[in-house]
Amino acid sequence: MIDAGEHGRPLRVAIIGAGPSGLYAAEALTKQKDVAVRVDVFDRLPTPYGLVRYGVAPDHQKIKSVTAALQRILEHPHVRFLGHVEFGRDLTRDDLMCCYDAVVYAVGAASDRNLGVPGENLPGSRSATEFVAWYNGHPDSDVTAWTLSSTGVAVVGAGNVAIDVTRVLAKTVDELRDTDIADHALDVLAHSAVSDIYMLGRRGPAQAKFTTKELKELGALADADVIVRSEEIVLTPEDEAAVTDPIVRRNVEVLRGFAARSLTGKARRIHLRFLVSPVEIVGESEVEGVRLEHNRLDEKGHAVGTGEFETLPVQLVLRSVGYKGRPLEGVPFDARTGTIPNEDGRVIRDGHAVPGEYTTGWIKRGPSGIIGTNKACAVETMAHLLSDLTMLPRAAGQNDITALLDERKVDYVVLADWLELDRHEQEQGKAAGRVRVKVVSRTLMLQLARARARAADANARA
Ligand code: NAP
Repeated sequence: MIDAGEHGRPLRVAIIGAGPSGLYAAEALTKQKDVAVRVDVFDRLPTPYGLVRYGVAPDHQKIKSVTAALQRILEHPHVRFLGHVEFGRDLTRDDLMCCYDAVVYAVGAASDRNLGVPGENLPGSRSATEFVAWYNGHPDSDVTAWTLSSTGVAVVGAGNVAIDVTRVLAKTVDELRDTDIADHALDVLAHSAVSDIYMLGRRGPAQAKFTTKELKELGALADADVIVRSEEIVLTPEDEAAVTDPIVRRNVEVLRGFAARSLTGKARRIHLRFLVSPVEIVGESEVEGVRLEHNRLDEKGHAVGTGEFETLPVQLVLRSVGYKGRPLEGVPFDARTGTIPNEDGRVIRDGHAVPGEYTTGWIKRGPSGIIGTNKACAVETMAHLLSDLTMLPRAAGQNDITALLDERKVDYVVLADWLELDRHEQEQGKAAGRVRVKVVSRTLMLQLARARARAADANARA
């Protein structure tokens, strides 16, 4: 193993974002044997794992179990977690360029896309992202923000996030109770008035983005019937050709099975609709309905309005039409794609890829793929970082960023603090027969995370 250049010290890399993309980048750096590295992984939250903790649905614990592997990355002796540190507020790009040889932006896509239709800003028209953050107990989410007093809900989009929110709305509380869903969400869901959930795909079943496992789950809920109109899942000749794709073929099979079902009188109904686009969200002072235009597919598979309309009686509209990245201060940003402009992970500044700044995950390539997709994405970016070694602008500033954080009185947390909070949540969960009970308040998170340090302090003084 070589040290990083003539400086005779390991390469210092800062990764912004402790979600899967940032952690897979840390793993790619520490796994290789050619260059000695020290990696600091920052997150604005006191908790690591990003969307695994705050995006993956609480009833998908198998997907969340990837945290065991992500924790091992954080435990690597050359990786340090520095949570509750916000880029742009606590640290600037210049601070980082001063202390590190390379910076990797792995901040994901925290915002969401709009529909761009009239009425979108009416009370009751909201984003699925907000709802997901709320039921997952994100500390920035207002615990009182949702009441679920609507009987009809439209979920716009035909991706896996749309399926997640549809399923959470349709499940009984008993189907969610043993998960790590936030307590406040469980309380509200227990009194939910929701009876009809309309999931709206603007194209046909062959173009839907959801995956079969997630689709199938909708047909196996304790107290929700699933309704599919057979006329909306008729395939075009082009679609028939696409059915060679196994995901499409299985999706179509499952949907045909749903269409053949009869209602069984369950309390809730999930209406899976295709070839419909919201053209207006209607209502005087709040959402009273969503006006849909029926679509057909053109020869390129794009949705084209037919001039036929209908209005669904809903009081809540959740748009679930994709995530979008947010700009970081001092970092190039393409507002059209919601990503950091890059060449295979090298950040592009003033038209050129610049050695020293990199990006990975959704902020690099847009919000697509499964968690594992971020591994290959990070490996690609880190390979470029390592191949740029001789061109990196070597950091001349102070060695340890924590000196700067202390100077600025930034209340950062380290891995041991997070593990303390993690232990607390799991213990509370065990006592309640649940996976974990999430702590939602940031203040309480910090207090609990510090319990270990306080105890050590007291011991030292005793
Ligand atoms: P997505 O998969 O990109 O789906 C977005 C959906 O919104 C598409 O059906 C799209 O239709 C539709 N849409 C876009 N603009 C629209 C508009 N103006 N009007 C109506 N519909 C519109 O995005 P996502 O569901 O947010 O998921 C993001 C990523 O996370 C995906 O890779 C997903 O697989 C992943 N994820 C995975 C899981 C899981 O594995 N269980 C769970 C959640 C999320 P068009 O196709 O016509 O554009």
